[in-house]
Amino acid sequence: MTVKYTCPSRQDLPESLMALAINMRWVWDDKLIEMFKSFDPVLWEEYRHNPVALLMNLDAAKAEELSADKDLYDQLQKKFKPEFKTPITAYFSMEYGIHECLPVYSGGLGILSGDHMKAASDLALPMVGVGLAYREGYFQQQLDQHGNQTEYNRRNIFTQMPMSLAVDDSGLPVLIKIPFPEAEVLALVWRVDVGNVPLYLLDCDHDKNQEQYRQITRSLYGGDHTMRIQQEIVLGVGGQIMLEQFGINPEAYHLNEGHAAFQTLYRLSSLMSDGKSQSEAEAIVTDSTVFTTHTPVAAGNDMFDLDLARPYLKTLTGTDVEDLLKLGIMGEDNRFGMPVAALRLSRFANGVSEKHGEVSREMWSELWPEKQAPITHVTNGVHMPTWIAPSINPELSNLELWNNHCKLRRKLVSFAQEKFAFQMKRSGVEDVPNILDPDVLTIGFARRFAPYKRATLLFSDMKRLFAILSQSEKPVQVVMAGKAHPLNVEGKDLIREVWSHMQGELKGRLVLLENYNIEVGRHLVQGVDVWLNTPTRPVEASGTSGMKAAANGGLNLSVPDGWWLEGFNGVNGWEIGRRDIVDPQQQFIEDAESLYSLLESEVVPMFYDRNSDGLPEKWVEWMRNAIRSAHPRFSASRMVDEYNRRAYLK
Ligand SMILES: *Cc1c(COP(=O)(O)O)cnc(C)c1O
Repeated sequence: MTVKYTCPSRQDLPESLMALAINMRWVWDDKLIEMFKSFDPVLWEEYRHNPVALLMNLDAAKAEELSADKDLYDQLQKKFKPEFKTPITAYFSMEYGIHECLPVYSGGLGILSGDHMKAASDLALPMVGVGLAYREGYFQQQLDQHGNQTEYNRRNIFTQMPMSLAVDDSGLPVLIKIPFPEAEVLALVWRVDVGNVPLYLLDCDHDKNQEQYRQITRSLYGGDHTMRIQQEIVLGVGGQIMLEQFGINPEAYHLNEGHAAFQTLYRLSSLMSDGKSQSEAEAIVTDSTVFTTHTPVAAGNDMFDLDLARPYLKTLTGTDVEDLLKLGIMGEDNRFGMPVAALRLSRFANGVSEKHGEVSREMWSELWPEKQAPITHVTNGVHMPTWIAPSINPELSNLELWNNHCKLRRKLVSFAQEKFAFQMKRSGVEDVPNILDPDVLTIGFARRFAPYKRATLLFSDMKRLFAILSQSEKPVQVVMAGKAHPLNVEGKDLIREVWSHMQGELKGRLVLLENYNIEVGRHLVQGVDVWLNTPTRPVEASGTSGMKAAANGGLNLSVPDGWWLEGFNGVNGWEIGRRDIVDPQQQFIEDAESLYSLLESEVVPMFYDRNSDGLPEKWVEWMRNAIRSAHPRFSASRMVDEYNRRAYLK
């Protein structure tokens, strides 16, 4: 079939201008962003930095004015014209974080997938992405004046987003048909263009679907096990059916985390119904599958009861499913493990840092009783052009680097002040206290409030912390952000704990910003002096926010886990605690002591050690080291190139 795409358009605007907004190549081109913003800075904020919505909602007079510059937009569009190649790799992921205006991500995994697409585009790799188009994305977090988290959902309006709908020759939406036990579930296909890489997102919110099935793609990581298995069937199986229907026939399938593992079973059963034996089919599927595991935390690895999985697989494959189900069972466990199936059916499997490779081999060793688990590692990386502030580059002199960094810190401080004032006023607080100082050593900490991330390690000795933050000549301040999963009571308690410190002793020097997302993340990693990371070891698979901070000249202050075990070189930041302590309670005590003493004796003195021009010479030298150590080792282009050479190409 021929597939066409309809995208948002407006007759009174040049087509080339809308095309510039629809291809998300602008996300990493600061001049294009500035251009869109300049059209109407108020609408730009109102539509959360979404240029498509901005253009669709400009008033007619402004549109007429812009039309006069048609030639300029035509030229720009020529410059940014994407080149879609015949795909050789299909990348499957449950979430993609490309920009704050397309909120179909929750955190690290999604942002990594987004960065993967962007780097593949930069490298002109023939790749497509496959994912889900969530009508409500991930939940939005609000914090009230007591630090209670409440959640709400915001509805995405796809027709005003950088997305195009797949339609057939007669202009009707293409519908992908996915067999479920009691019905055939239909999915629309939206294409998001990430530079040269098309990303296909499936959307079950179609009026021909029964109400329960319309909900499948409503919210990311919402709902129960049934909802989750249905989502993962739409992703893995629906995604594969779509590729086949669109005539896309890749040589490699990259399953980013286990969520899409049903894709392998579906391919297996198709091959078997074409007459292959199960072992022949397994060999073919394995030979084209690449699998990346992302977490040693049990909750991050989906396991389904066999009784839940069985009817779905039966419907999909039409065959006896017991042998297929066995592919997902490890040892005595009586559940179907998505990563288990993915590991068994991939020719290349990896963790996301050297340490995590080691931890994963141990974690899954039962699957290979006779030998070492064949799991290697490809260390994560971040898309530098997305995350580095335009004013930071290696050619700057020490003074310029420092001055530009100070401007970014000031920008972060005023962003935080504004956001905090907004938060408080919404809760009915009229008298918003003054917080933060633009010229003070600023520590950033942002991540999910899950207990193992130990957000409150910093607060374990309040007396000592207070002394560190409040030296009159050498003050320190902390900006934090992070969501707790709606069902995680402990996580919400941690938020309240931080909040109480913010309103108590640390008033003015500590702020917790609500609704951590890509926009908040960008301000933080570009503006902080120090990026703090204190998870229990070895649970952090990689972490990527620290790489973003380092690339901007931020110094990491982190426990030796994940990427930092590879990134730390003695002159680009600090290592908290000792590498050889395993016991979590012992770690907590050691790490807290180490954190405080590093702050007291190294971090704070070095930051405030100024020469006669007011320049902290050693600090700026370390900033430069941090930037250097991030390139190219922790860039997404190194990462994608490594996957390409080691895993995608045979
Ligand atoms: C980079 C990023 C993450 C992932 O960072 P971690 O170091 O894994 O915590 C999560 N959320 C946002 C908004 C990010 O920008």
